[in-house]
Amino acid sequence: MNCGNVFSQSTVPVCPLCGQAVSVSRSRGEDVDTQVERHISSGCRHHVLQRPPPRPSSSCTQRGCKRRDLVPYTCPQCERTVCIRHRQPMDHPCHPPVIPVH
Ligand SMILES: [Zn+2]
Ligand SMILES: [Zn+2]
Ligand SMILES: [Zn+2]
Repeated sequence: MNCGNVFSQSTVPVCPLCGQAVSVSRSRGEDVDTQVERHISSGCRHHVLQRPPPRPSSSCTQRGCKRRDLVPYTCPQCERTVCIRHRQPMDHPCHPPVIPVH
């Protein structure tokens, strides 16, 4: 175990001043320390890693139900994502996956 080494190759460096993730393009040969230095000397404005926008949380698939804030529940029968209020098979169009029958 490599204890103590928090920054591994895959870890995104974080600015110690502002706490933002600093973008380092290793494919362009950029160095973590150099990029953090550049970032700090730019006033913590440049070389900030643009995080992808958070994915919209899965919402209930029941039509008209816009609940997003609840823990989504996946129906084990039809594998739809529904909210806790629509989790019962009678409360959403619960159609189990159709298995073609010849
Ligand atoms: Zn910073
Ligand atoms: Zn719902
Ligand atoms: Zn269902």
